Amino acid sequence: MSIRIQHLNKSYGEYPALQDINLQVPNGSLTALLGPSGCGKTTLLRIIAGLEYADSGELFFGDEEVSNLHVRERRVGFMFQHYALFRHMTVFENVAFGLKVMPRRIRPDKDEIAARVEELLKLVQLEWLAKVYPQQLSGGQRQRIALARALATKPKLLLLDEPFGALDAKVRKELRQWLVEIHHQLGITSVLVTHDQEEALEMADQIVVMNQGKIEQSGAAASLYDHPENVFVTEFLGEVNVFEDACIEQGQLCLGHYREPVSTGERTRQNVTVYVRPQEIQILTENQSNVIDSAMVEEIHIIGAQIRLWLCRYNNKQRVQVWLSPAEFRTLNLQPEQIVWFKPLRLTMFRLPEMVDFMI
Ligand code: ADP
Ligand code: MG
Repeated sequence: MSIRIQHLNKSYGEYPALQDINLQVPNGSLTALLGPSGCGKTTLLRIIAGLEYADSGELFFGDEEVSNLHVRERRVGFMFQHYALFRHMTVFENVAFGLKVMPRRIRPDKDEIAARVEELLKLVQLEWLAKVYPQQLSGGQRQRIALARALATKPKLLLLDEPFGALDAKVRKELRQWLVEIHHQLGITSVLVTHDQEEALEMADQIVVMNQGKIEQSGAAASLYDHPENVFVTEFLGEVNVFEDACIEQGQLCLGHYREPVSTGERTRQNVTVYVRPQEIQILTENQSNVIDSAMVEEIHIIGAQIRLWLCRYNNKQRVQVWLSPAEFRTLNLQPEQIVWFKPLRLTMFRLPEMVDFMI
């Protein structure tokens, strides 16, 4: 079921928690609401769920306006970071709970409930734990049971609020993959709240970047990463080097010795800020034309399959982060304190005070 939100606003007293939110969630997609703590993600999710009401604006599920529909009539499943399982109930009883409390006229009978719970436990691959109590489960297992419970009543929407926030990094990574697989298997429209850009980039079809109660930009994960529309999105979606000593003059971007033609139509010199991701910087062991600057290799960190370098620019002592593959690193044969040169393979730039700008 698709979701459409139009001109939605919500304040707590004087505080505007959400301002003019406009959003489409396509049917069957996994959409991530991504942003720093306090930007309004949970508030928006709770409004979609019907646990909270907007002050103004419209909310549609498919073609139906649901703004005034009670949470029980919205057919949504939830899973929250701290949505604890019932301690005094077994895994089976926890998953069955939502079915047992359905109004009598639509409630499945005992055998149907048992069959449904079995099916769900199979889906989350924990059927062998039906009889145990939550205290006997690991954190990851608990969240998998919580998902089975959220899916019990066959919701049309699945809403996930930082579902793996309390788990350690390795389990979190495994569960991300697992959740994406289940999402594809079921094809259920899902909205995931996270403050973790890596989680959003890895899992979501669509990412909605939020900041201070507003949507900054939304789109497919790859397009957001490669074509950020403003400084906030550029900086929030991963590591980036910021070069403040750049300008545009006579139709050229100038950064250190680097020159690149740009079409701005403006004749006067303007200062710009240039953003280059660490994997978009090329290192050269000899001076060439069109490098930004020379630099000294200050630090070399080998992190799994990635080599992370810190360079120190000759010109202004700025520290520049560069990520290489092991193959690139071997070819360059870099040593600490070696002098190198560097240039951007790809960059984004914004005029400050920033507005939507252009890219080469
Ligand atoms: P996020 O989930 O992105 O961290 P929230 O949606 O929880 O952000 O909160 C957004 C803002 O609204 C925060 O500043 C928070 O303090 C405020 N807020 C959230 N819920 C309430 C509430 N019930 N009463 C007052 N302020 C609230
Ligand atoms: Mg939150």
